[in-house]
Amino acid sequence: MDQEHRPVIIAGNWKMYKTIKEGLVFVKELLPMIKDSNSEVYLAVPYTLIKPLADTVKRKIVIGAQNMNDATEGAFTGEVAAMMLKDVGARFVILGHSERRRLFGETNEFINRKVKRALSAGVQPILCIGETEQERDEGKTQEVLRTQLTECLASVRKTQFKRMILAYEPVWAIGTDRVATPQEAQEAHRFCRQVIRELAGDEAGDGMSILYGGSVKPENVHELVNEPDLDGVLVGGASLNVETFSKIVNFNQV
Ligand code: PEP
Repeated sequence: MDQEHRPVIIAGNWKMYKTIKEGLVFVKELLPMIKDSNSEVYLAVPYTLIKPLADTVKRKIVIGAQNMNDATEGAFTGEVAAMMLKDVGARFVILGHSERRRLFGETNEFINRKVKRALSAGVQPILCIGETEQERDEGKTQEVLRTQLTECLASVRKTQFKRMILAYEPVWAIGTDRVATPQEAQEAHRFCRQVIRELAGDEAGDGMSILYGGSVKPENVHELVNEPDLDGVLVGGASLNVETFSKIVNFNQV
């Protein structure tokens, strides 16, 4: 499967921003603005917004979460399980975001358990991977990506790969206004697709949607998504403003 046959996915990550009221105002404004877009629009919102937003947008925007626990249930104060996400209408979950890795000490092994739990609960994982600036400077980008992919996807069944999305998010580009060049992003995406082929076969590699994340803006989305192995973008800061996010969603109409 080549890029033409993979859907374009524009995903927003709201992080720890917005109340229910603010979220509802946003999606009600956004829906008419993106009605002519062919892209699939995903919004990863705080837990408290999942149900009200999922109920409001029906299936026109895919609403999901930004994290979950790896256990099915249990005495884990403050944690949320995959089945609970499903219960409130989340259709996907971001796993392994660099903020979770850096600020909350999440390891590839822990993320791997979450990926498998999300898949078995029927919640689509968006698995985030990416190298730090130091790792890139030391020429270790491919080694880091290969390790993250191999460890985060260990013992995931080959048939389950088609139910996942991958996001390449170089850590040095997240929230920094320092976007990867289309060539840097393409090179990393092509490499990730090759590793997926090695792990799960050509069909999995060719079919996998791989999003780029890191300082995406209306001004740079077009040239990024033009690259053959980029199937869309994961947007943090620029997804919080409805005008800006709608321009990103409508990138191919300008
Ligand atoms: C993110 O948090 O996933 C992200 C890509 O952030 P930003 O777009 O703000 O760089």
